[in-house]
Amino acid sequence: MRQVPVLDLKLEYEYYKQDIEAAIKRCMKHQRWINGPEVKQLEDTAAGFLGVKHCVGVASGTDALVISLRALAIRNTGNEFFDKNDEIITTPYTFSATGEAIIRSGATPVFIDIDPGTFNIDLNQVREYLAENGDKAVGIVPVYLYGQPVDGDGLRRLAEEYDLFVVEDVAQALGGAWQGKRSGSVGTAGAFSFFPSKNLGGFGDGGLISTNDDRTAELSRILLKHGGKDKNNVDHIGYNSRLDTMQAAIVLAKFRYLEEFIGRRRKIAENYARELAGIEGVTLPTVLTGALHSYNQFTIRAARRDELQASLREKGISTMVYYPYPLHRMKVFQGRMKIWKTLDQAELAAREVISLPMEPLLEQPDIDQVIHSIKDFFTT
Ligand SMILES: *Cc1c(COP(=O)(O)O)cnc(C)c1O
Repeated sequence: MRQVPVLDLKLEYEYYKQDIEAAIKRCMKHQRWINGPEVKQLEDTAAGFLGVKHCVGVASGTDALVISLRALAIRNTGNEFFDKNDEIITTPYTFSATGEAIIRSGATPVFIDIDPGTFNIDLNQVREYLAENGDKAVGIVPVYLYGQPVDGDGLRRLAEEYDLFVVEDVAQALGGAWQGKRSGSVGTAGAFSFFPSKNLGGFGDGGLISTNDDRTAELSRILLKHGGKDKNNVDHIGYNSRLDTMQAAIVLAKFRYLEEFIGRRRKIAENYARELAGIEGVTLPTVLTGALHSYNQFTIRAARRDELQASLREKGISTMVYYPYPLHRMKVFQGRMKIWKTLDQAELAAREVISLPMEPLLEQPDIDQVIHSIKDFFTT
């Protein structure tokens, strides 16, 4: 039986193998495993691509969130951590790392429900929340789920009006944009991930912070190296969170394929959207006018989701559920979060979503097989 994977990293490796093997060989030769030249080259390349002043490589996307939030705590409060009374607004419908990072920065996450069409935080409800609690909120961490940004103009207006920082969780959104402004360049800082399944994945963990703010960049660089300009005499409670030279070299080698691959993702998404439109039981995602979606995932809502997933599995088609548990249902957040009104849309999404195969190098017969199998499931 023909297998259709969600992602096929072996296939991709064959595609750009020469570039990657040459990059690894250069590392072998220079042996500068810590802060080798590729780290700065990647930071500069990413800063150019995003149109930001600074990019800072770190050890993971999670660390990019934690370190940028810690940098903002130090910059804005003069203390090492935020206070529990400092609130950071975010979505409950994301990977656990988003909420975890807020708690690790000392603040309290406030979960606000999502827009059912985009799966992203509902900015109208954020505005409602701020109208009553604007004095407690210090920042907002919007997540560009599956690769789609939130309305960047609306976001900026809220941030200015209520004097909030914005850390964009762009772990899934490298290559996306709002009205031509790259995701990760709209807020105070952006947190990217090079986890292998992200749009630009390394061969292990890696991450990057983007920012136009000099002080945030400077503090992030200090925090990722134990908390001091001199690691033998440190000023802050820091981390060991350098981006490996080898990971930087691999990500850098893949960087030049990024736009081509996103173009391929977009084509697959258009194909799915065209062919799955109008099937009873399937709801397609909404893409906002002004949003450039990077399609880290193509995620639909499906009636009888678990049955559909099992039926596709029988036909050799792999799918994923991002995410089966919204954050406010997780044990770790009990007693450490605030909830605005209800989170019904996040709960519903957790029961209905399914992410379809989204391998940029997938061939048309594979895409057709996915489409036909979904049609079959709902019509027979
Ligand atoms: C992957 C991901 C992260 C964390 O990135 P890691 O590199 O795995 O630490 C954070 N937020 C979201 C939305 C993610 O998808």
